[in-house]
Amino acid sequence: MKDMISFKRKTNKLILIFISIVCLISLFCLFVCTGNHTSHLSSLTSHLEYQSPVDYEITLAGNFGEPRPWHFHGGIDVKTGNVEGKQIFSIADGYISRLTVNMYGFGNAIYVAHPDGHTSVYCHLQRFAPQYEALLHRTGKDTLSLVLPEGKFPVKAGDLIAISGNTGHSTGPHLHLEIHDTETWVMRDPLAFLGHLIADTVAPQAHSFMAVPMQGEGVFNGSQDKQTFGFGAPDIKVQRSTFNLQREFTAWGRVGFALWADDYAQDVHNHYGIRHMQLLVDGREVFCSDVDSIPISCQPEVNQWGDYDHWRHTRIWYMKAYREPRMRLPILHTDIHRGIVTFSEERPYHLTFVLRDYQNNQATYHFTVQGRRNKSVRPHPKGTLLDDYQLFDQCLWPYITYK
Ligand SMILES: [Zn+2]
Repeated sequence: MKDMISFKRKTNKLILIFISIVCLISLFCLFVCTGNHTSHLSSLTSHLEYQSPVDYEITLAGNFGEPRPWHFHGGIDVKTGNVEGKQIFSIADGYISRLTVNMYGFGNAIYVAHPDGHTSVYCHLQRFAPQYEALLHRTGKDTLSLVLPEGKFPVKAGDLIAISGNTGHSTGPHLHLEIHDTETWVMRDPLAFLGHLIADTVAPQAHSFMAVPMQGEGVFNGSQDKQTFGFGAPDIKVQRSTFNLQREFTAWGRVGFALWADDYAQDVHNHYGIRHMQLLVDGREVFCSDVDSIPISCQPEVNQWGDYDHWRHTRIWYMKAYREPRMRLPILHTDIHRGIVTFSEERPYHLTFVLRDYQNNQATYHFTVQGRRNKSVRPHPKGTLLDDYQLFDQCLWPYITYK
C-alpha cells in the first residue's frame, strides 16, 4: 500500500514536471513567435523614407485631386522643364511590380511596390531603365502590361528606373506620379509622402462663391436661382489671407454654397486644386473637405461634388460646400443637414470659408447673410427626410477595388 502511495506521488510529481516543461516550452514558443510576428509587422509598417523622383527641385504643373470632368486628377504632375529625357528615380525602397506600354492613358508607366503597403506609379515615360526595357518584347505600336513577381526586381530609393517623356494621354513632357494603397488601390495624395520636398508659401485663393437655393425650399437675395458673387481679383503677390466681403446678402430657407477657388505656389504660373475647404456658419463647421485620398470607384462623383453643369458652360469648377444625396466620396464631411444652411431666423448669419493647402497656408473669407422672411419658401429648421436618409446612406457602400 505504501509502495502504491509512493508510486502515485512519484507519478503526480512526474506529471507536474511534465506539465511545467510543456508550459515553459509553450511560453518560449509564444514569446519567440510573437517576437517574430512583431518584427515582421514592424518591418511591414516601418516608416519608409521617401525621396524625390527627380534630381532637381520639384515644381508642380498639377496637384492631386484637381477636379476634371468625370475624374479627379489622380497624382501630381512634376515639371520636367518642357523636355523629355530627365532621369526618373524610385521614390522609396521596394520592387518593380509592373510595366505598362500604351498609346493612351499613362503611356509607358512603371510601378514600384513599397514595403509600407503603397505603390508608386510613374507615367508618360519615354522609356524604362535598360534592365526593365529588356524585359519587354516591343513590336511597335503595341499595348503591353507586364506584371512582375514579388521581390524579383528590387529597387532602392534613388535608383534610376526610367527616363521621362510625353507618352500616352499627355499634353506636354512631364512626369505624372501617383501613389496608391497597394491592397485597395485607393489613390493617395503624393504630397503626404513628398510634401517636404516642395516649397510653397502661397495660400489658396477663392475667386467667388455660388449660392444654391434648394428648389422650392430656399431663396437667396430674392431669387430661387443659383447665383455667383465675386470676392475680388486675387493678388497672389500680396499675402492677403483674410477677406471680408462688405456687401450684405439676404436669404430665407435652405441654401447650399459652393466655391470657385485655386491654390498657387511661388515663382510658377500654375494653379492647383484645393486640398482643404471648410464652411463655418456662426463659427460652427457645417462642411469640410480634405482631398487626401480618393477611392477609384468614387472618381465620377467629381461631377456631383463640383457643379458639372456650370463647368460645361464656363469651364469653371464650383465645388459644393454641401453633399448631394447618395454621394459616398469619403473626403467630404458635413453636419446632419449635408452642409446645407437653413436661414429660419431674422438675424445676421456669419459665414466663413477657410481654405488650406498641404503646407497649411491658409486663406479665410467672411461674409454676412441677413435672414429675411420670404413668403415663397417655408424653411424646415430640422432639414428634410432626405437628410435623415443621407445619414444612413453614408459609408454603407463598400469601396470597389480596382487595379
Ligand atoms: Zn497628371
